[in-house]
Amino acid sequence: MAEIHERLGLTPVINASGTMTSIGASRVVPQAAAAVGEILTEFVDIASLQARASAVIAKATAAEAGFVTSSSASAITLGVAAAMTGSDPAAIERLPDTTGLRDEVVVQSGHLVNFGAPVDQMIRLAGARVIGAGTAFDVQPFHIAAALGERTAAAVFVISHHVVPTGQTDLATFVALCHARGVPVIVDMASEYDLTGAIAAGADLVIWSAHKFLGGPTAGIVAGRRDLVRASFLQHRGIGRAMKVGKEGIVGAIAALEAWAERDPVATRSREEAIVTLWFERLANVPGLALRRLPDWTGNPIDRVELTVGRDAGLFAWELASRLAGRSPSIRVRDDLADSGVVHLDPCNLTRDEAVAVAVAITDVIEEARAAGDGFRENFAEHRANGLAGALAWPG
Ligand SMILES: *Cc1c(COP(=O)(O)O)cnc(C)c1O
Repeated sequence: MAEIHERLGLTPVINASGTMTSIGASRVVPQAAAAVGEILTEFVDIASLQARASAVIAKATAAEAGFVTSSSASAITLGVAAAMTGSDPAAIERLPDTTGLRDEVVVQSGHLVNFGAPVDQMIRLAGARVIGAGTAFDVQPFHIAAALGERTAAAVFVISHHVVPTGQTDLATFVALCHARGVPVIVDMASEYDLTGAIAAGADLVIWSAHKFLGGPTAGIVAGRRDLVRASFLQHRGIGRAMKVGKEGIVGAIAALEAWAERDPVATRSREEAIVTLWFERLANVPGLALRRLPDWTGNPIDRVELTVGRDAGLFAWELASRLAGRSPSIRVRDDLADSGVVHLDPCNLTRDEAVAVAVAITDVIEEARAAGDGFRENFAEHRANGLAGALAWPG
C-alpha cells in the first residue's frame, strides 16, 4: 500500500466497486499522472489550453468541439446554462436569474436519479426548472412531446445503470422529438465507455467524467455542437467560476483521452476476465453465496460478479458489504442493490493481488459471521438510517 495513507493516518482502500467517486474513482493512468505533474509548476493560457482540449475531444468523439469542466455534475449545470443564455455575456452574468430566458429543461422521469447528488439539482443550479416527462417506469413519446413547450431551453438524457431500466424512450427518438421543436439535447453518460454513439445519434452536448473509465484526474469532458460548447465554456464568466477546473484537470483529461485511444481493449478485458475467473474459483464453495456473471447493465465491455447472499452466509448482504468496508485495508464492494440481497464485485480497478485479498476477506467475513452467529442484526432500514447518521456526523 502507498506510503501516503500512513502519512495521513488513513485506512488503505481496495476498490472492488468500480469507478466510485467517493473513494477516488479510478487509478489515474501514468500518462495523465505525468502530465498533471508536469503542468502544476508551469503557467499556461487557460483559454488556449481549453482550445487544445477542444481539438483532442473533437477527434475522440467526432463532435465539432469540446472543453473540460471540473466534473460531469458541473458540466450538466453549464450545458443547461449555455442552452438558456447562448453567448450573451450579460445573461451569463445574470444567472441564476433567468428573467427573459427560456428556462425549462425536459427530463424523462426515469432519468431523474441520484448519482451521489440528484440530476435535477444540477439542472436547477443554473436557474432552470425541471419538467419531468411521464412517470418512473413509463415515458412514451407523447409524454415527451407534451412536456416540450414555448419555455423549453433544453432536454437532458441520462445513460447510466442508475436510470430506470425499462419503459423509457430511446435516445434517437428523444433527439428526434426535441429537434423537431428546436430543443438541444444534453446527454449525461458520465461513466459510459462509448465516446461516439451519442454524438452520432444527434445529441447536441455529451458529458463524460475524466476520472471514471478514462483513468484521468477529477474532471468532466464535454463534446458537442460548437456554439453550445462555446456558450458552456463562457459560463466561466458567471456561475461556472464556482465550478472551476484547473490547468491540472484540463491537461490530465487531455492525456487520459489520448491514452484511451492507445489502450489495448483486448488486453484490458482479458486482465479483468482473469479476475472474474479467480473469484469464481475462490468463492464457489463459500456457504450461502451464489455466484453469477453479470454483463454490464448499460452495455459497457465489462462483466462483474454478482453475489447473492443467502441465509447460510450468516448475515445480510448489506452487513457483508459494511463488514468488508470496516476491515483494514477497507474493501469496498458495489452495494447499491444490497437491499435485494446481492452485492457486486467489479474487477476494473484491481490488481490480481487485490482481487485475491477481496476473495479471502469475503470468505473470512462469512466464516466469522457463521461461527459467531452475530449476523442478521441490522435490517435494511436500520442499516440505511445508520449510514445516514454516520454521514451526518462528519468529521466524527
Ligand atoms: C458519476 C456520474 C455523474 C457525476 O460525475 P462527476 O464527474 O463525478 O461529477 C453524473 N452522472 C452520472 C450518470 C454518473 O455516473
